[in-house]
Amino acid sequence: MNERTLGIRFAVGFLVGMMAAGPLLASGEINLYSARNEALIKPLLDRFTEQTGISVNLVTGKADTLLKRLESEGDNSPADMLITTDAGRLHRAKQAGLTQAVETQVLNDAVPAPYREPEGHWYGLSLRARPIFYAKDRVSPESLSSYRALAGPEWAGKICIRSSDNIYNQSLVAAMIAHDGEEKTQEWVNGLVENFARSPKGGDRDQIKAVAAGECDIALANTYYLAGMLTGNDQNQRLAAQAVAVYWPDQEGRGTHVNVSGAAVTAFARNRENAIKLLEFLVSPESQSWYGEVNQEYPVRDGVAWSQLLNQWGRFKADQLNLSLLGENNAQAVMIMDRAGWK
Ligand code: FE
Repeated sequence: MNERTLGIRFAVGFLVGMMAAGPLLASGEINLYSARNEALIKPLLDRFTEQTGISVNLVTGKADTLLKRLESEGDNSPADMLITTDAGRLHRAKQAGLTQAVETQVLNDAVPAPYREPEGHWYGLSLRARPIFYAKDRVSPESLSSYRALAGPEWAGKICIRSSDNIYNQSLVAAMIAHDGEEKTQEWVNGLVENFARSPKGGDRDQIKAVAAGECDIALANTYYLAGMLTGNDQNQRLAAQAVAVYWPDQEGRGTHVNVSGAAVTAFARNRENAIKLLEFLVSPESQSWYGEVNQEYPVRDGVAWSQLLNQWGRFKADQLNLSLLGENNAQAVMIMDRAGWK
């Protein structure tokens, strides 16, 4: 290759680079770190780009890996926004100084107060419930009432739930602490652990399968796992899911424990305004309906229709606790579970 062709190549490469960068500079961009699978978010991001001309550079990864990455990148991080699951994790991001407060009328109107951080460090995008699943053929729903009642002697050896290192369980215990205080929650967790059918293992789906297999009568799990099992291609999972029913605990009192997937504008966002635009887009009625349906979760926004499957399980009263408390009580929750010997 002589110097001339090299020069031309360089010029062409430069032009192509400019053309690629051109529209981005003209209409802006946003760098998004997402713990949600690409399939569960990408179509929505594409629609956002169509509507606003703002392109979204998506990086997906595991929730805890993305948090670590944000931490190690510090103020050099290209990320403008983080999407992740569980209020406990969103709180960790805030505590680590990885998020910033943003507040707009649109966001406050769209996301009910319990599902956003009071200063605007994160906003819920979808709601997940963690109710009781029971064996249809062995448990009568009349014998169920509240989370607290699961610690009673009548449930000895009958409960399946995953391990205490899982944030969903930590958040459930954190919610109990917020309602009942540390002492009463310790008693409850002690009783619950005593009633375990087996040493905790596997994920939420495995607990549902264990109920179907007769290893236990009761499981605590997030509803979208049951939805995934019912609508997936795996026949065994489908059959297992059909053997259990959903019971909404604490309908007489505080309501069923819920959690969110949510989004935060990162502390060092260079495209802050675009990130806020994306946040507002994600809580719009259209996005909420799509996002809830695809993730088989509930919309955070009121007045958005639920999927047919979710409607089958019925309406329920959700706990109105501000979910930032799940994060604030996390360390205490972990300690309580540890003391009770929850593996
Ligand atoms: Fe999950």
